[in-house]
Amino acid sequence: ASGDKKYKRILLKLSGEALTGSEKFGIDPKILDRLALEIGQLVGIGVQVGLVVGGGNLFRGAALQSAGLDRVTGDHMGMLATVMNALALRDALERSNIATQVMSSIPMSGVVDHYDRRKAIRALSNGDVVIFSAGTGNPFFTTDSSACLRGIEVDAELVLKATKVDGVYSADPMKVADAVKYDRLSYDEVLDKKLEVMDLTAICLCRDHRMPVRVFMMEKQGALLNIVRGGQEGTLIE
Ligand code: UDP
Repeated sequence: ASGDKKYKRILLKLSGEALTGSEKFGIDPKILDRLALEIGQLVGIGVQVGLVVGGGNLFRGAALQSAGLDRVTGDHMGMLATVMNALALRDALERSNIATQVMSSIPMSGVVDHYDRRKAIRALSNGDVVIFSAGTGNPFFTTDSSACLRGIEVDAELVLKATKVDGVYSADPMKVADAVKYDRLSYDEVLDKKLEVMDLTAICLCRDHRMPVRVFMMEKQGALLNIVRGGQEGTLIE
């Protein structure tokens, strides 16, 4: 079952909000099960999957700052939120019999392993899903940046950014009726047109290390599997 796939190792970035589903806050167990099913399909055809999950469904440092909280403290809270999401995802994946390891950029002995690049690569090579949590471990960064950083570090062939819309548009398609969708973009086009895809740190990192990024709609069933088989979904930035 290892045949028809274009990519052997990918890094999938899920936003924290992707876990909220039909709940008002936090984590929707139904969404976790669906994600486990779709990720399991990749593992099933022999794709090695690294995962980075955000924390925006629980905490965002910058949002708390505007309410008076110290930014660095807020960012630490945001990173801890990503660990909670990672634990929930691991639980759902393991219940679906998908071997999964969570690593944290902030050491958290007794809860999850500390991030170690070589251990992560070994686990991925064994076919385990590896969830990279606690962002980069540093305040003032985002989980988009940590997804690109870890993707580059573990030699993933593609970073997949799951969003609510099916790719990158010239303007917000929810607000602007004649917004056009791009099938392909260069890193510089993303920067020049000030397209809000990922933060600039993440885009620059990918540009400097030639890491392609595909932005796609996670809610579209089967899209993830289609991409790893070489299908066209969303927007490719390269
Ligand atoms: N964060 C951080 N450093 C990192 C990654 C994340 O400080 O390297 C904090 C930051 O406060 C951020 C929060 O964690 O707002 C949640 O991450 P993010 O906003 O990227 O989550 P998402 O929008 O993907 O749900």
